[in-house]
Amino acid sequence: MKTIDQVNFAGKKALIRVDFNVPLDGDYNITDDNRMTAALPTIQKILKEGGAVILMSHLGRPKDGPTEKYSLKHVVKHLSDLLGQQVEFADDCIGEQAVEKAKDLKAGEVLLLENLRFYKEEEKGDKDFAEKLSKLGDVYVNDAFGTAHRAHASTAVIAQFFPNAKYFGYLMGAELANAEKILNGAEKPFTAIMGGAKVSDKILLIEKLLEKVDNLIIGGGMAYTFAKAQGGKIGKSLLEADKQELALSLLEKAKAKGVNIILPTDSIIADDFSNDANKSVSSNKDIPDDWEGLDIGPETVKAFSKVIEESKTLLWNGPMGVFEMESFDKGTKAVAEAVVRATQNGAFSLIGGGDSAAAVAKFGLTNDVSYVSTGGGALLEYMEGKELPGVKAINE
Ligand code: AMP
Repeated sequence: MKTIDQVNFAGKKALIRVDFNVPLDGDYNITDDNRMTAALPTIQKILKEGGAVILMSHLGRPKDGPTEKYSLKHVVKHLSDLLGQQVEFADDCIGEQAVEKAKDLKAGEVLLLENLRFYKEEEKGDKDFAEKLSKLGDVYVNDAFGTAHRAHASTAVIAQFFPNAKYFGYLMGAELANAEKILNGAEKPFTAIMGGAKVSDKILLIEKLLEKVDNLIIGGGMAYTFAKAQGGKIGKSLLEADKQELALSLLEKAKAKGVNIILPTDSIIADDFSNDANKSVSSNKDIPDDWEGLDIGPETVKAFSKVIEESKTLLWNGPMGVFEMESFDKGTKAVAEAVVRATQNGAFSLIGGGDSAAAVAKFGLTNDVSYVSTGGGALLEYMEGKELPGVKAINE
């Protein structure tokens, strides 16, 4: 793997694609800086060696060019605090000002460029735009795992302008090594925990995992499509009606491969999709018509926890219920705690990004699992066996 460990950055200008797509509140305060702290080791190594750092990232999904709400200037202060030095900002990612500021940058200094997605060319993977960006640095470093599944100008296309000077940063290296550990070096028993809203989003991953896991736990909203397909009454719970056949065929495949699939047997049900709704516990086969399952129930928590605690490798993607509402976060919390106990007993636990990472953070357990990925979609695609454009561009 071509990593920054193979380079001495003294006197060099490193152009680093980072993923600073952090959540901001209404006053532009960063509500979760995990993606920024995860990029620090790469930045610090380059600065320490006497290199200069030019950072480029996207933030949110701006539709029509520059938008105040999506300006990366909102992260400059926090980044300066994290690095313990003032970070320079260029309010365009290409053009005269960016070129001048990059040229004037001295060893040990850091420049952050404005949001790449203020240009449509970024997501289109435009070659001319990528070339303009490439002029800003001597070495290209990709440390943006969260966007590695996109063939954008700054994540993939740009690499061709650095044929002998393109490398993975430490975060990319760690993400890929941990994903590989799960895919090709999992100690058994290996248990995958799948949750979240939709079966359709995770179907490719589930099929792939059936080749590898001993146990597959299915919770969250997607479990109701399985319950309904098996003849259960699920009330108003989430259902992908056209995926019932698929759900049954997955169960068949699992059986043929000797994979133990564990589905919820009970739910916390509610008479409204609201934190203040009336709640009750119900069998998953018999949810009343006007009620919906919004979390796994106590019997399910016990069954899931037992399997998790007996595992040596754990991959978790997707919450067990509507964990954003306090009334329905207990199942997700209990599963997170079981994963932590397994980790304390020597298991390797990888938490997929997105909502699972947010859930583990909400319960303050981020440091008690083996690894929390910064990539949602990117991790899913990597695990499905797809080649990520951001990875390919460095490797080829
Ligand atoms: P995903 O992006 O597919 O991982 O889904 C995550 C979302 O699924 C979260 O916002 C959860 O609130 C939601 N979710 C999980 N369980 C349920 C459920 N039983 N009913 C409705 N939404 C759910």
